[in-house]
Amino acid sequence: MGNLFKEIVDRSPYAVFIFDKNLKELIYLNEKAKMCGLLSEQFTSLLLKIDRPSEVEFQGKFYRVEPLEVEDKKVYLVEDITPLKTYQRAKKDFVANVSHELKTPISVVQSIAETLYWEEKDPLKRKFLEKILKRSKEMEALVEDLLILAALESKEGKVIKEKVPLRSLADEVIQNLEEHAQHKKVEIFNEIPPNLVCECDSHKIFILLKNLVENAIKYNREGGKVWIRAKTHKGNIVIEVEDTGIGIPKKHLPLIFERFYRVDKSRSREIRGTGLGLSIVKHIALIHGGKTEVESTEGKGSIFRVYIPQK
Ligand code: ADP
Repeated sequence: MGNLFKEIVDRSPYAVFIFDKNLKELIYLNEKAKMCGLLSEQFTSLLLKIDRPSEVEFQGKFYRVEPLEVEDKKVYLVEDITPLKTYQRAKKDFVANVSHELKTPISVVQSIAETLYWEEKDPLKRKFLEKILKRSKEMEALVEDLLILAALESKEGKVIKEKVPLRSLADEVIQNLEEHAQHKKVEIFNEIPPNLVCECDSHKIFILLKNLVENAIKYNREGGKVWIRAKTHKGNIVIEVEDTGIGIPKKHLPLIFERFYRVDKSRSREIRGTGLGLSIVKHIALIHGGKTEVESTEGKGSIFRVYIPQK
């Protein structure tokens, strides 16, 4: 190994491990690797099993590992991401705790406002109470979505796979949203074949489908239509929700799955939402090893697709 190369490796912000590719023998490791105490055989044998960029846990610490092949050598760049993980965990715990704490007061405010509203005769006071009710319902929806996300990111988020008959799951979703659809005069068609079975977590896919169908109703026009479809395609089950709604401008499409992203404050103002629904959808697809996709034409409608790999 030349001096220049050694100098670069020694100055790298990563812990660098260089192995002989064939003999799997450690040829060189830089100062950073020595300082991090990553010299143990246990750690190096862990590295040799890694063949793509991954995150690993070792003795209570977290590392991001990137393997590279350089000529006849196998190089591993290792970064200690424990501080980042600690920060992320603290942030998640904080959001989950605050959401739990807010749940009860919000529902108390809501039920008191509701009782007073029905008893009140004065139109002005009724108007104020109506506002309290509307806002507390929005807060309740936000807290519910935050709690769903927190649960998905915690141990409860573990995917428990079973064979799920998708058509009847979609029927349950439709039943759940019946009132909402009737109110908006939106017709929903369940076009999932009766015998299609999906290997997935039934409760989580129910939440995913409910969010997609709820959006398809919410962002639809009065008298519009929604189709729910599913099929097997290249080892995946593809679930599709199509609507005849307002659509989404192209420039927003890459962002709509981000947390709290709402396309246009003015267009969504009248439509109640938290901006969390699609990030829940994306998260559920990801923990199943799958992905999401969207096609949309402004003024015509949207198609959301979710791919769930089957083993
Ligand atoms: P929200 O609670 O605002 O509905 P989502 O995360 O579910 O949050 O969706 C993010 C944004 O994407 C929405 O605010 C809306 O502007 C847009 N969107 C989602 N689904 C649809 C749809 N079926 N048709 C049109 N716009 C949609």
